[in-house]
Amino acid sequence: MSVRLQIHGDLKDLLNGIADPGVNCRDLDRSAPVKDLIESQGVPHTEVGLVVSRGAERSFLYTPAGGEIVDVFPHTPPVDVSLPSVLFPVPFGEASFVVDVNVARLAGLLRLTGFDCLYDPRLDDAMIAEVAGGERRILLTRDRELLKRNRVLRGRLIRSDRPWEQLAEVIRFFGLRDRIDLFCRCPRCNVPLVNIDKGDVLDQLEPLTRMMYDRFTRCPGCGQVYWSGSHHSRIREKLAAALDDLQ
Ligand SMILES: [Zn+2]
Repeated sequence: MSVRLQIHGDLKDLLNGIADPGVNCRDLDRSAPVKDLIESQGVPHTEVGLVVSRGAERSFLYTPAGGEIVDVFPHTPPVDVSLPSVLFPVPFGEASFVVDVNVARLAGLLRLTGFDCLYDPRLDDAMIAEVAGGERRILLTRDRELLKRNRVLRGRLIRSDRPWEQLAEVIRFFGLRDRIDLFCRCPRCNVPLVNIDKGDVLDQLEPLTRMMYDRFTRCPGCGQVYWSGSHHSRIREKLAAALDDLQ
């Protein structure tokens, strides 16, 4: 007796093998924890929001019996990672992230909007998964295999290949619009910026900057000085455009 997986919503788009639009069932002739069964069909566990069989909500460790029908549903955004669920029993604190090299530019945009986002191109997949699990960071990547690693507790498969759209995906999915805090974190180093007196940086400023701006911040990590110049308006416009696309 095989186990039948019924895959719902946009999780169907992630199924591997022969793509047969409209068909969402997979009959599997083996018994294993439901996480393994789902991931063997191409769907990373991080993308699953609810698993139901025989009228009960199941964890990823649950092993269905032969003949059992298991319904697998996507998340319903916004997803609050601070709330534990049957599938994700480990609560996270405030949403913080680690990104894979294939979404590297997303790291800079998340930092610009105020979110703690680790990115280090020297980390291999095993190390990224370790950081994600050990520090309870949400893993953002376009690599499904990376999301399937057991150490990864929370993550999101990024759909768009355009950085501003990726940022909008993350903000919408995790419900972070109210937590956006622009220009408070160094986009290079991920370190929170500190306010500094204009007098302390006068000798580093171009004459026009010296004349036009009064508020300055510095990154304690790399020493870079920032001020609210015309690039800030451009970033605000791009952010507004990206988020309005979602409405
Ligand atoms: Zn810095």
